[in-house]
This record gives sequence, structure tokens and C-alpha cells, in this order.
Amino acid sequence: MTKIFDIFKNKSDTPPELWSEVEPLVAPYKKETWVPATTKGSTSYLASKFSGIPALLKGEEWPCCGSCKKPMQLFVQLNSNNLPDSVKGIFGDGLLQAFYCTNSEDECDEICESYFPFSKATSARLISLDESELVEHTGNLVEETFPEKQITDWEAQDDYPNWEELEDLGVKLTEEHVSVMREMGFPREKDKLLGWPNWIQGVEYPSCPECNKAMKLVFQIDSEDNLPFMFGDAGCAHITQCEEHKEQLTIAWACG
Ligand SMILES: [Zn+2]
Ligand SMILES: [Zn+2]
Repeated sequence: MTKIFDIFKNKSDTPPELWSEVEPLVAPYKKETWVPATTKGSTSYLASKFSGIPALLKGEEWPCCGSCKKPMQLFVQLNSNNLPDSVKGIFGDGLLQAFYCTNSEDECDEICESYFPFSKATSARLISLDESELVEHTGNLVEETFPEKQITDWEAQDDYPNWEELEDLGVKLTEEHVSVMREMGFPREKDKLLGWPNWIQGVEYPSCPECNKAMKLVFQIDSEDNLPFMFGDAGCAHITQCEEHKEQLTIAWACG
């Protein structure tokens, strides 16, 4: 209850009247989401962080864009040892990394359609945490690097799917109910671990290239939250993973 109360401190003092009507309908789909707390500054190459220098595998080059061939920016690195206890191991053991070409001159995001999953101008992967297989890269090779932010903690919050995804799940909301969900801030915007995707243009889970099943949300990166980056016009990006094939990861986004 305190979590729900906290939300309203920022908006109005009381939940919208109809929330008591909507809550039982959506309750079966309540999930926990985790909002990262961050501090600026560089940190260990193994840390969970936004931007900065990623851990690299011994002998490999910094991941480069398949179009302009320049080093891609690390958007996020998550260390499976730094996750909230209840979701440890959720994406497997290791470092989850997402890279994105931010080289604006070459318009890689348009040429490579980096809003689609598995674009040549993006990369997402899970690598070993075994330090004997990793190297710390000296210096950031990206041209216009974003300031590094370390993820220091996670705050749990309730999350619910958007109305379209609820419809796919068999819950038909009225227009009034949909606006109550919006007032409540569900699904949550901003950067978050797990929970429900804040879809901007319909439900768009990528399919796993190996088994064709819908991939699951691991992490949401919103425009201009922890990264000083805008996905198109205030879009929202999602890192998804196949539940069975943990090495199948991708980042994709949509905007209005
Ligand atoms: Zn590029
Ligand atoms: Zn799969």
C-alpha cells in the first residue's frame, strides 16, 4: 500500500476514484518492476551501469556498428550479481550488455533501422563474469561518450500491462478504465528492470530467432532518463531475451 500511496504524492493526494474498480481486473497481471538508483561517475568495468566502458572478452575488439564500423556506445551493462535478491539470475549469470550506434553523422539508426530488433547498429549480449575471460579496456573509444552512471540500488514498484497487452491477456478495459491506468502511471515509464513494457506503438515483443517464441522484457530504457539520448521522438526502448535461449537478446524501440 505504501508504494501505491507514494505514487500519488507526486500526482494528486488520492487514487482516482475508479482505481478500486480497475484494480481487481488487472490484479492477476501485477508484476514487480525495479527502478535503478544511480550516481554519476566512473566505476569498475564489471559494475552495473549506464554508458561508460564495458567489460570486453579477451581478444575481442570493442563492439562496432555494422554500418559505419565505429565503436558503439554502451547503453547499459547489468551484472547478474548486482540484481535485487528476488530476481537474481533472471537473465542468466553474467554481464548483460546493450550497445547502440550513436554516430549521428552517418544516420546509422535510419539506415540500419535500429528501432527494429537485431539491427546492425545495435547489439545486446550476455557474457561471462569470469574475470579470467575478461579484459578492462583503457579509455572509451566512442566519439561522443555519455557520462557514466553507476547503478547503486534498485527500488521495487508495482507494474501493470498497458491496455492493449491487457486485451491480449483477455482483460477488456473501458476508456475510463484505460485513463485511470494512465493516471496511475501504469505501465511505468522511465528506465526499469523487468515489469511490463511501456509500449508506445502496440505490443511488439520480438521473436526469438531460434525458437520463434516471443522474447521477454529484461530492461526498459526510456528517452532522456539515465541516458542523455532520445529514441526518435521521445521513444522508449526495450531489451528483450528469449527465456529458453538466454544468448538471444536484442534491443528495439518505438516512438509516437
Ligand atoms: Zn553506426
Ligand atoms: Zn528461443
